[in-house]
Amino acid sequence: MSLEQAREWLQAAGSVVALTGAGISAESGIPTFRGDGGLWQNYRAEDLATPQAFARDPRLVWEWYNWRREIIAQAKPNPGHAALVRLEIAKPRFTLVTQNVDGLHDLAGSGRVLKLHGDIWRMRCTQCGSNWPDRRVPLPKLPPHCACGGLARPGVVWFGEALPEGMMQEAEHAVREAEVFLVVGTSAVVYPAASLIPLARQSGARVVEINVEATPYSEIAHCSLQGPAGEILPQLIP
Ligand code: NAD
Repeated sequence: MSLEQAREWLQAAGSVVALTGAGISAESGIPTFRGDGGLWQNYRAEDLATPQAFARDPRLVWEWYNWRREIIAQAKPNPGHAALVRLEIAKPRFTLVTQNVDGLHDLAGSGRVLKLHGDIWRMRCTQCGSNWPDRRVPLPKLPPHCACGGLARPGVVWFGEALPEGMMQEAEHAVREAEVFLVVGTSAVVYPAASLIPLARQSGARVVEINVEATPYSEIAHCSLQGPAGEILPQLIP
């Protein structure tokens, strides 16, 4: 199925959902987990982004987050993020669901973003549970602490943790109503986020995938467009 066909579906749709992953921020210079540059000091993300790793060595995990925050702080939204802002403005019903923690959709101007995996610019206290924004780069002291004295953790969802309360349900509700479902720059192996793709297909949405390579869901997408999101999205959403 061609890009022109996908553009027509999008233009005709009143209700659209977009699910984004690390790939949409790759052209902004933020490494994906599963692509080149995803390693840090020979650690894989799966070995650091877990509650177990944090319990074992909070300083090591914070050093990794500090490094990621430094990279993300230098990044700017790219034409892929901007295209999704245009889509939000154009459509009566639009929901942006992201697995990214980088905040680039916010910076681009997206009004409402369901951040399934949280936000790297927020902190949460492991003791009193309060959470707050912190954009300092680098962080002055590792690991950071809360005003109550408790150890702070990044405000993100780690492998094996539950998503923010109610957010997946809200995403699923939007997907059930969607006429077109865009899947952008995700390897679609992290659950439950990836389950939105078969749900969209079952609910009758046209599924349009944008990725530089084939994924487990390319086969079930109605249209799989191979190429960088920063180039394909502006063509889909002129
Ligand atoms: P992933 O690293 O597993 O997969 C990235 C996907 O993007 C791959 O399928 C790759 O082929 C594709 N891709 C790479 N460059 C692209 C481009 N220019 N255009 C389109 N597609 C491109 O990432 P994921 O699926 O989002 O899942 C992994 C987890 O990683 C998520 O939970 C997310 O929170 C986290 N993560 C977030 C960031 C971020 O916030 N920017 C960065 C790395 C990882």
